[in-house]
Amino acid sequence: MTELHKLTLTEAARLLQSREISAVEMVGASLARLEATEPLIQACLTVAGEEALAEARALDQAGPDPARPLWGLPLTVKDVFLTKGLRTTAASRYLENYIPAYDARVVERLRRAGAVIIAKTNLDEFAMGNSTEFSAFGLTRNPWNPIKVPGGSSGGAAASVAAYQSPGGFGTDTGGSIRQPACLCGCAGIKPTYGRVSRYGIVAFASSLDQAGPLARRVRDCACLLAAVAGPDERDATSSLHPVENYGAAAARPLAGLKLGLPRELWSANLDPEVRSVLKAALHTLEGAGTKLVEFSFPSLKYTVAAYYVLASSEASTNLARYDGVRYGRRAGGSGGLAELYVSSRQSFLGPEVRRRIILGTFALSSGYYEAYFQKAARVRRLIRDDYARALAGCDFLLAPVSPLPAWDLGRFIDDPVTNYGLDLMTLSVNLAGLPALAFPAGLGPTGGLPVGLQLIARPFEEMALFSAGLALEEAFPPLL
Ligand code: GLN
Repeated sequence: MTELHKLTLTEAARLLQSREISAVEMVGASLARLEATEPLIQACLTVAGEEALAEARALDQAGPDPARPLWGLPLTVKDVFLTKGLRTTAASRYLENYIPAYDARVVERLRRAGAVIIAKTNLDEFAMGNSTEFSAFGLTRNPWNPIKVPGGSSGGAAASVAAYQSPGGFGTDTGGSIRQPACLCGCAGIKPTYGRVSRYGIVAFASSLDQAGPLARRVRDCACLLAAVAGPDERDATSSLHPVENYGAAAARPLAGLKLGLPRELWSANLDPEVRSVLKAALHTLEGAGTKLVEFSFPSLKYTVAAYYVLASSEASTNLARYDGVRYGRRAGGSGGLAELYVSSRQSFLGPEVRRRIILGTFALSSGYYEAYFQKAARVRRLIRDDYARALAGCDFLLAPVSPLPAWDLGRFIDDPVTNYGLDLMTLSVNLAGLPALAFPAGLGPTGGLPVGLQLIARPFEEMALFSAGLALEEAFPPLL
């Protein structure tokens, strides 16, 4: 038998359901792999080994159940999903000792489907960043090359899947945080339509942009994972009533005749030669397979980075106001009264990047600047959304790069926030428009040998179509893991 930790999620699910392997064997294999790789990769903030094995034993006793499609599968969740009784930090000192009293809806649904949570994965503090270097608890390394970043903010989730610690994991994507690390680690990942997955019990960053979704080594694995958690939730008023389709049963659709729009502003950006060469070959392959590629111009996309960083930071400054050390989060010492308590708690427990966002957001929302910054950014958001709707009306999907660079050296942009924010150009606008997008590997850079990815962007709630096309793309671009 192949090593169990190398099985894809779909393969493992089949063997578990047919009792060819037990939940304890599968969970045990993942935990053993985690233990072997974790000293180098550092993808996890908390490992729930004992709890996971106990759950697996209970599952084995009850036996598999076709109504529980994730039965016995070891999964990770990014450390922003609340897990009952299991520490949830958002990679922030503020929540270093926080033990939630309930499960996030996503976690609850995963457990109900039979999954076993083995670990909470690392991220940039409060999901603000694109390299996982802004975690308060140390960096995560890219399994393809340990001197490189895994991407972010769901860098732990992507690195964990790429290191074969688990067959799948959940992340969140506010401006690219599922797609970009998936791409830098050679995985597939989907950012669902805004409202497709409940945000209940997820530590909030920017509520109008945040969306949870899976990362895995195969497109079908992502489809099965999304199917288990998607759908309305009375605890999240922004969750959608739109019917959930049976994503796991998606069938590959032929690439011939598919019309893909290429937003020129994303393709003509400053792409690293490694990325450019892989993507050029990818377009060639697609044309060879009979897809029709049409360029679009999207003038509003030039304002993406500015608009996103104003809006996301504004929402973050409001969401993070609850961390006052009085009603919420850890409290720093100090005897000078309430104001000093606030100041010392926030200074002691929030990292530099989070503080930068709060200051930026508070400024953009303050009287006298609100119209000039927040309101203007909100108008740009509408333009971007309308431009996307127009472009998507004329083709089946849009196709775009995910990151202008392959995984970069640890430390490279840590002191250069403006350049660093610019690296998010290709992912942010999808969140501003609330659209679903599937990221998948397109190949390895010819010189550096690092993964390069692409994203397919669809109309709202067209996840099923994304998976069908994604399955065909996976045949054209063989998986890297
Ligand atoms: N890199 C972007 C940011 O720092 C997006 C992060 C995310 O999607 N959570 O805001």
